[in-house]
Amino acid sequence: MTKDMTDQPTPMMAQYLAIRDANPGALLFYRMGDFYEMFFDDAVAAAAALDIALTKRGTHLGEPIPMCGVPVHAAESYLLTLIRKGFRVAIAEQMEDPAEARKRGSKSVVARDVVRLVTPGTLTEESLLEARRHNYLAAYALIRDEGALAWVDISTGAFSVMDCPLPRLAPELARLTAREVVTCAPGLDDLVAEAGAALTDLHASAFDSAAGARRLCALYGVETLDGFGTFGRAELSAMGAIVDYLELTQKGKLPLLRPPVRERAGGAMQIDAATRRNLELTQALSGGREGSLLSAIDRTVTAAGARLLERRISAPSRDLPLIHARHDAVEALAADARLLSDLRAALARVPDMDRALSRLALERGGPRDLAAIRNGLAQGAQIAARLPEDAPQVLAASARDLVGHDALTDLLDQALVAEPPLLARDGGFVAEGYDHDLDQTRRLRDEGRGVIAGMQADYATEAGIPSLKIKHNNVLGYFIETTTTHAERMLARPERFIHRQTTANQIRFTTVELSELETRILNARDRALEIERGIFERLRAAILEQAAPIGQAARALAEIDLAGAFADLASGEGWVRPRVDDSRAFSIEGGRHPVVERALKRKAGSFVANDCALTSGATPAIWLLTGPNMAGKSTFLRQNALIAVLAQAGAFVPARAAHVGLVSQLFSRVGAADDLARGRSTFMVEMVETAAILNQADDRALVILDEIGRGTATWDGLSIAWAVMEHLQAVNRCRALFATHYHEMTALSAKLDGVENATVAVREWEGEVIFLHEVRKGAADRSYGVQVARLAGLPALVVERARAVLDALESGEREGAARPAALIDDLPLFRAAPPPPAPKSRPLDAKLKAVHPDALSPREALDLIYELKALS
Ligand code: ADP
Repeated sequence: MTKDMTDQPTPMMAQYLAIRDANPGALLFYRMGDFYEMFFDDAVAAAAALDIALTKRGTHLGEPIPMCGVPVHAAESYLLTLIRKGFRVAIAEQMEDPAEARKRGSKSVVARDVVRLVTPGTLTEESLLEARRHNYLAAYALIRDEGALAWVDISTGAFSVMDCPLPRLAPELARLTAREVVTCAPGLDDLVAEAGAALTDLHASAFDSAAGARRLCALYGVETLDGFGTFGRAELSAMGAIVDYLELTQKGKLPLLRPPVRERAGGAMQIDAATRRNLELTQALSGGREGSLLSAIDRTVTAAGARLLERRISAPSRDLPLIHARHDAVEALAADARLLSDLRAALARVPDMDRALSRLALERGGPRDLAAIRNGLAQGAQIAARLPEDAPQVLAASARDLVGHDALTDLLDQALVAEPPLLARDGGFVAEGYDHDLDQTRRLRDEGRGVIAGMQADYATEAGIPSLKIKHNNVLGYFIETTTTHAERMLARPERFIHRQTTANQIRFTTVELSELETRILNARDRALEIERGIFERLRAAILEQAAPIGQAARALAEIDLAGAFADLASGEGWVRPRVDDSRAFSIEGGRHPVVERALKRKAGSFVANDCALTSGATPAIWLLTGPNMAGKSTFLRQNALIAVLAQAGAFVPARAAHVGLVSQLFSRVGAADDLARGRSTFMVEMVETAAILNQADDRALVILDEIGRGTATWDGLSIAWAVMEHLQAVNRCRALFATHYHEMTALSAKLDGVENATVAVREWEGEVIFLHEVRKGAADRSYGVQVARLAGLPALVVERARAVLDALESGEREGAARPAALIDDLPLFRAAPPPPAPKSRPLDAKLKAVHPDALSPREALDLIYELKALS
C-alpha cells in the first residue's frame, strides 16, 4: 500500500473496509499473497491475543494504520487461539490470480471475498477439533411458550432436535457441552455463558418456522419433511436457524447434514448441570478430562467410538430393550477374548470417516480424506466378517451396515496410492495404472526431466566448461548456469546461448531447445495436475453419493468399538453385567468408585468395595449415611450414582452384582460448594440447587445429597437437612442417599418409613482414627472431627484445646444443658488454658530427677523441700 497523504483510502483499503463492514462482529483475515493481514482495531486485538508483532502500514484519514499478519501455512494454529479466546474470524481470500487484476490496469485490486466465517461451533479442520469429542453448534428457538433446541456437529453431520421448554435449556446445553448457541430469544446470555458456550444473536428472520421448513426441504431435496417425523413450529424454527447460520458461515457451501433425528426428552436419564459437575461425568471439577468418569473408563480405540462413549455417558438411556441389547453385545465380546482382541486391533486402524466425509462435502477435503473412506470401509468389511453369525443384535445390525461397500472400496483402491499426500493441489495421489491419459502425461513430464539431466553433459562438452550446470527456479524456469570467469566462451556465441541474467558470481543462459523442452515439461505437468484434479472430483462425487451408507458404516464401527471397549473394561477390571429392569430396586453388592479406585491403584492402595441396598417396594428407600470426614461418604454416594449411569449407558459396572431399577432422573448435590464465579453466596447456591431437586424429583429419581445444610449455622443446617429429608421421603418418594454429619438426624430412621441408617466405619486406636472405608448399617457414634484435624496437622495445642471444648460440650449435652452457647460461656478462655511448662520449672525437674529418696535422711529430705520450693 502506498502512503496516502490525502484522506482518500487507497483502492485496496477501500476494498478492505467494504469487506469488513459486510462482516460485522468478526476479525477479518485479509489474504495478501502468503499472509492473512489484519488492520485497524482487528490488528490491535489480534496482535494482543496472538502475541505477535503489531506494525503500521500506510495511513488512513491521516492516521497510521495498525497492522499484523499471520502466514497462511500456519494460519490454523492462530485461528484456534483466536476461537478459543472468543473471537470469530472472517476469512477473505483472493478470488483471482493477481495477474488478472494487473491486466485490468495498474490501479486495480485483486478481487477478494469472504469464503468462510470461522466460529466455535462451525469448525471442521482436524487440527482445530478434538478428535475424541463432539463439537456442537446449537440453535434455541422460543415461540411463545414452546421452546426447541436443535444441534449439529458439522464435522460429522449429526443433526438432532428436541422439544425444550426454557427451564430445560440449561441442563440440555450442559449435556451437549455445546460450543456455540445461536438464538434470537433475549436474555439467554448468562445461561449460555454458564454452559460454557459462545452466544451468537441471529436476526429473528433466521428463526421463521415456515422459512425454516422450506430451507430444510431444499437441503434434503424433499417436498415435505414428513418422512423425517412430525415437527412442532419451534423445532422447525430451531432447525431452520441452524441451516441458515451454516449457510451464512460457510458462505453457501452446506455441510453434509444427516436427516434430523428427533430426541424425546424422556428417552434419556435426566441429569442437570450441577449433577454433571459434581459427579465429574465428562469433565473433572478441575476443568480437564483427566479425573473424570469418562477418562477413567475410556478404552475406545477410534475417535468416533470415543465420541459415542461421551454421548452415552452424557445421556444414559431409559429404554430397557435398548439397554439390554447393549449389555448383550458387551457380554458376548467379554466372553470371547480372542475375538475381542482381533476386533480391537482391526478397529484401531479405522480412520475418522465421519470427519473425512464432512470435509469432502464442504470442499475442504483432500486426498487423505478419500483414503480415509477407502481404508475405513475396507477395515469395516473385515470387521464384519470377523463377527460370528449368531452375534447379538447390536453387533449383527452393525455388521450389516459394514457390508455392501465393495464397489466404492474397489474404485478408491484402484484410483488412489497407498499413502496419498495431504493436499490435492500438488497431485501425486492417483495410482499408476488407473488412468491411461494420466500415466502417459506423467511419463512425458518425467522423461523431459531425464532429457534435461542429459543435456547438462552435452552443453558442458560443447562449451568446454565442465562445471556448467542446468538448474531450475520459479522465476527463470530451467537455465544454464556458469561462473562469471568461465562465461566468456558462452557469451561469445549469443546465437546459441541466450543470456538471461547476471548475478554477482554467476551468469545464466538458455537455449532454444531448453525452453522448448521446458514448455513441454510444464505443459505435461499442468496437464497431469488437471487430470488428477478431475479424478479427485469424480471420486469425491462417488463418495458423496454414498454419504448415507458410509455414515451408517461409520456409526456401526463406533458402536462395535464402544461395545468392545466396555467388554475390555469389564474383563480387565472385573466389572459385571447389571440387571436393569423397571422395578425400583437399587441393590449393589461390592460396588466400587472407578475413578477413586484407579487413583488408589496408582498409589498401590486398595479400594474397599461396599454394598448399597435401597430396599425396593412401594415405599421410598433412603439411606442416611453418617461417619467422620474422610471416611469415604462422598465416595460411596458418588460410586452408586456412577453405577446407575454406567448401567444405563450400556456398560458393565464396577461391582460384584448390581440390580438397578430404571432411573429417570439423577440428582447430586454437595453442600456449600464454592461458586464464587456466579457471585451467589455458597449457601444460596446450595439451597437453589436443593430446591430444584425437591421440585423436580419423581419417584424414579435417584438423589444423592452430600452434607446438605453445611453452609449455614448448625441449628439452621440441621433443620434444613431434616426438612429436606422428610420431603424426599413423603413427597418425592424417590431413592436417595443422604450423607450428613448431623448425628441428630439418625433419629429420623425410627420415624420415617423406608429411611435407614448407615455409617462408614472407623476404628479408634490409641486415640487415633483408622479409616476402614466400610459402609455398615447403623449410625456413627461420633464424628472424630478432632482426630481428623490432628491427622491434618493442626498444631497440637489447638487439637488439645478442641478436645477440651468437645468434652465440655458433650458432657453438657448429657446433663441436659439448655444451649451450647451457655456451655461455651462457662469454658475458660483459650489463653487461660494450661500454659506450656515454663522454662523456669526445668531446673526443678532436673533436681527432682537427681533425687534418690532411699538415700535421704529425714533432715536431708526437709532441706530438699526447702530447696525445691525455691526453684519453683
Ligand atoms: P468423606 O466424604 O467421608 O469426607 P471421601 O469420600 O471424600 O470422605 O473419602 C476420603 C478419601 O478416602 C478418598 O479420597 C479416598 O482416597 C479414600 N476412600 C474413600 N472411600 C474409599 C474406599 N471405599 N476404599 C478405599 N479408600 C477410600
